Amino acid sequence: MRNSLERQGREKDAARIRRSRKEYLGERLWTSRVALMELLKGVHVIETYATTTLLVDGRLILVDTSSDADAGKVIDYLANIRVKPKDLSTIFITHTHPDHVGGLAAIKHGSPAKVAAHRIEADFIARKRVYDGPSGPQNHPGTQVDVILDDGQKLDGLEVIFTPGHTRGSISLLDPAHSLLIAGDAVNNESGLRPMDDRYNVDPKQHRESIKKLAKFHFENAVFGHGAPIKGGAGTKIADLAKRV
Ligand SMILES: [Zn+2]
Repeated sequence: MRNSLERQGREKDAARIRRSRKEYLGERLWTSRVALMELLKGVHVIETYATTTLLVDGRLILVDTSSDADAGKVIDYLANIRVKPKDLSTIFITHTHPDHVGGLAAIKHGSPAKVAAHRIEADFIARKRVYDGPSGPQNHPGTQVDVILDDGQKLDGLEVIFTPGHTRGSISLLDPAHSLLIAGDAVNNESGLRPMDDRYNVDPKQHRESIKKLAKFHFENAVFGHGAPIKGGAGTKIADLAKRV
């Protein structure tokens, strides 16, 4: 019985991956393409429901994968700048929420790209453990995490900053080459800089401590999971926010 349920689950996941791929492969049926947005030379910001960041500068790195439904838009964006998912070296996942991890299986499908995430988040991304925080149990197709990250670790030139509180194993990434913080959902910029809505934070207090932690790093530019990126002066703005939270 259990085996048959597991098999059904796997078949459902496989069907969903095929669907996302088909949406993309269906002769580019997009009615509205995602606009090209190169924030800094070699730093692309792909805005769907949540933001995906793409670094194309000798490295070929994707940070976050949007939702299951928007995976095709991310793949389409890559195609527009002649990047194939199979050429990606690493796909970082900042945290396990559906709008950041949902597209992973479809984008990673057939690609040798390594998947990297924080140690705590890896089992939620792989669906080996049930995520116990908001917004409830997950239903993305589980994907194996290949590189387990810890605070302070460097991978592909990106420094891992452990920023828990939004989820249990959230990370932000610092790219010194572009003086860029890729915040994930450690900070929100939808209507000015602020914490994420506490309805979506597993530990609101810890989330604010993480904002204070980010304020100690040096960077000029920042990309957020939700809201417009900031070009120039981002570190100062986040330091100001850290004083208010
Ligand atoms: Zn989130």
